Amino acid sequence: MVKKVEIYKEILVSEEELDKRLDELAEEITESYKNSEKELLVVGILRGAVIFMTNLVTRMDLDLTMDFMAVSSYGGSSVSSGVVRILKDLEEGIKDKDVLIVEDIIDTGLTLDYLIRNLKDRGANSIKIATLLDKPNRRKVNVDVDFVGFKIPDEFVVGYGLDYNQKYRNLPFIAALKEEVYS
Ligand code: 5GP
Ligand code: MG
Ligand code: MG
Repeated sequence: MVKKVEIYKEILVSEEELDKRLDELAEEITESYKNSEKELLVVGILRGAVIFMTNLVTRMDLDLTMDFMAVSSYGGSSVSSGVVRILKDLEEGIKDKDVLIVEDIIDTGLTLDYLIRNLKDRGANSIKIATLLDKPNRRKVNVDVDFVGFKIPDEFVVGYGLDYNQKYRNLPFIAALKEEVYS
């Protein structure tokens, strides 16, 4: 059994920073939807976005519903191929709704680019994106992200929902993994 504390080399975003930024993001998001007549559906992308999403929606002063999607890219696990497969689709229809996609991290942008095109085809009134983390240096396609928690350097990170081999999602902060853990 490896203790949680032994796997990371550096905390990139602390619990205090997460708390403060989530308050700010929730306020921005509330502000941007408060005058909309449409129903707001918040769509979390499983599994990485779960912790961010729960802590975000509980701070938002809006009527909303929640739904989830799970996606995977074909091919290698660490490099996005750009071909995205839907493993679990939405249970709610989105026609005429305001859709807020909640993601853990945007890296190449390929996953979100696919998701936006897919959800647009279903007739949403609007589609916006909130991501906890952004690695702008890694982008392969341009994606308009409406709400970004933190821009981070190109390092593999875990915690606050993000995994390595399905573990470390329960770290209460964002940390860079030690190279020896994944090499
Ligand atoms: P994209 O299609 O933007 O390249 O892929 C985004 C997805 O790759 C994220 O939703 C996440 O699942 C995964 N990912 C990208 N960078 C990291 C990282 O540093 N740590 C973890 N745990 N997942 C990452
Ligand atoms: Mg994700
Ligand atoms: Mg993952």
